[in-house]
Amino acid sequence: MNSEGLNRIKEAGLKLTPQRREVYEAMMQLRHATVEDIIERVQSRNKEVTLSTIYRILDSFCAANILSFIYHPDTGKCYYDITVAEHHHLFDGTSIEDYADTELSQLIRTYLESKHFTEEEIAKIQVQVTLKKNV
Ligand SMILES: [Zn+2]
Repeated sequence: MNSEGLNRIKEAGLKLTPQRREVYEAMMQLRHATVEDIIERVQSRNKEVTLSTIYRILDSFCAANILSFIYHPDTGKCYYDITVAEHHHLFDGTSIEDYADTELSQLIRTYLESKHFTEEEIAKIQVQVTLKKNV
């Protein structure tokens, strides 16, 4: 695993256990993954890592802002996302692509501010673009 990943776990104040390493490594490869995808990937490498351990690690990673999650607009499935910085998504069938565009985020922020959309500060803008299915 690259040191960037290791550092994110340590910086969050979590001990770098072999199991946490396995889960993070799986996410580094998968980028966006359902819990089933992660379980399959982790257990194909190490059968000793139990389901409850994987669930616990995913919860702690989300709480520590090491992972984020998104819902697929078509399937309603929840995906863990290795990228926590503000970014957008392009959904093409079952595939999910990241779309990073700070200009788009800023445009929406400015627009919403001009409409006095909320008194609160906007924490995150996430645009979901779904491509038309070719039937
Ligand atoms: Zn993403």
